[in-house]
Amino acid sequence: MEFRVPDEIKELKKVVRRFVEEELRPLEREVEEKGVSPELRKALTKKAVDLGIYALAMPKEYGGGGLGLLGQVMIAEEMGRIHPSLRFVVSDGDQMVLHWGTEEQKQRYLVPVIRGEKIPAIGMTEPDAGSDISMIKTTAVRDGDHWILNGTKHFTTYADIADYIKVFAVTDKSKGARGGITCFLVDTDTPGFRVTKVFDSIARSLHVCEEVFENCIVPHENVLGGVGQGHKVFGTTYAMNRGRYGGFCVGIAEYLLEKCRDYAKQRVLFGEPIANRQAIQWMLADTAIDIYATRMMTYNFAWRYDQGMDVRHESSMVKTFAVEMVGRAADRAIQIHGGMGLMKDLPFERIYREVRALRIAGGTTEIQRMIIARNILRGHVSTGYNI
Ligand SMILES: Cc1cc2nc3c(=O)[nH]c(=O)nc-3n(C[C@H](O)[C@H](O)[C@H](O)COP(=O)(O)OP(=O)(O)OC[C@H]3O[C@@H](n4cnc5c(N)ncnc54)[C@H](O)[C@@H]3O)c2cc1C
Repeated sequence: MEFRVPDEIKELKKVVRRFVEEELRPLEREVEEKGVSPELRKALTKKAVDLGIYALAMPKEYGGGGLGLLGQVMIAEEMGRIHPSLRFVVSDGDQMVLHWGTEEQKQRYLVPVIRGEKIPAIGMTEPDAGSDISMIKTTAVRDGDHWILNGTKHFTTYADIADYIKVFAVTDKSKGARGGITCFLVDTDTPGFRVTKVFDSIARSLHVCEEVFENCIVPHENVLGGVGQGHKVFGTTYAMNRGRYGGFCVGIAEYLLEKCRDYAKQRVLFGEPIANRQAIQWMLADTAIDIYATRMMTYNFAWRYDQGMDVRHESSMVKTFAVEMVGRAADRAIQIHGGMGLMKDLPFERIYREVRALRIAGGTTEIQRMIIARNILRGHVSTGYNI
């Protein structure tokens, strides 16, 4: 089986690479020190929209780029090369509204997201409910044509700058996670909603918040995917997102490998470039092997998704392998650069910190392994390759 990159994607990759190197690379240091200001976000979003690289994952009928998952993964590789705080310039759009929204919800939320006019967020995790979503305590109680939301969410990426949040709340405690949770589209200017904290963390690029809902009144028409369908809304789109981690991780690791190759050739010690030493060569080779394996897994996963196959099992495998792979690649990059690898003059210590978060965000590697093992033990999947 061979994956030939379609010409259209090759061209798009070139456009994105140029944008990354010419427009984004010079901003990396500023963004690392100060974050992304609202003005910068607006200006870069406009440039990306004008260039036709924003919301590539969304269908053309709503103004997106119409890329399948294989194309999205290949573009994610390019975006992996840059500071994660700048990756918003190739927005994912809003998969949940696309898959589950009514036409009216798509016009109200999805279309503005695709135009770069609205920022979405997802509010599932709570202080007492991360991996185990059956523990969520945020409630939504029906009151005629409205629902009243109360509770606290945390680790919501971009809650402080989002225009709306897909909030998952308990609507029927007796039904538990399957049937008892509903997703609501909550506008962040709704009275009763407020962001109480922006977390400081291991890396500048992690922009996660805590927010509270106090008698927050949401119209019934803002239920996404139907009452009690929250687990389906959450589950479907996360499978796809987990697979996309593969693209970012391949891009990050490839960027690291290029830097390591160049440095190893020019760093002379004991009379020779360190590239001549087998210890260094093996680190380069191991990262190259890791990249190849992750890329093939990810492409195959994405191709299967595009064919309409059920890839939930594969998505957990890709996510786990990719995020652990990029951690190894970042560790080797620091080792090859010696002491300078630890200094903020070079990007490696930053990347090392950033990629650590990937083993937790979007579902931990323990939970992915739990899903994979459960599928095998219950006979839901073959232990071979399902063609
Ligand atoms: C950068 C970042 C961005 C995020 N963005 C969002 C967002 O936008 N929206 C959102 O809703 N959430 C978001 N999250 C939350 C993320 O989904 C959770 O952090 C993640 O699901 C883990 O939950 P937790 O942190 O509560 O850890 P816990 O669930 O408390 O887990 C603690 C530890 O126990 C392990 N563990 C749990 N259950 C088992 C088990 N059965 N077997 C073995 N080990 C187990 C876990 O793997 C972990 O090592 C984000 C998190 C991060 C770090």
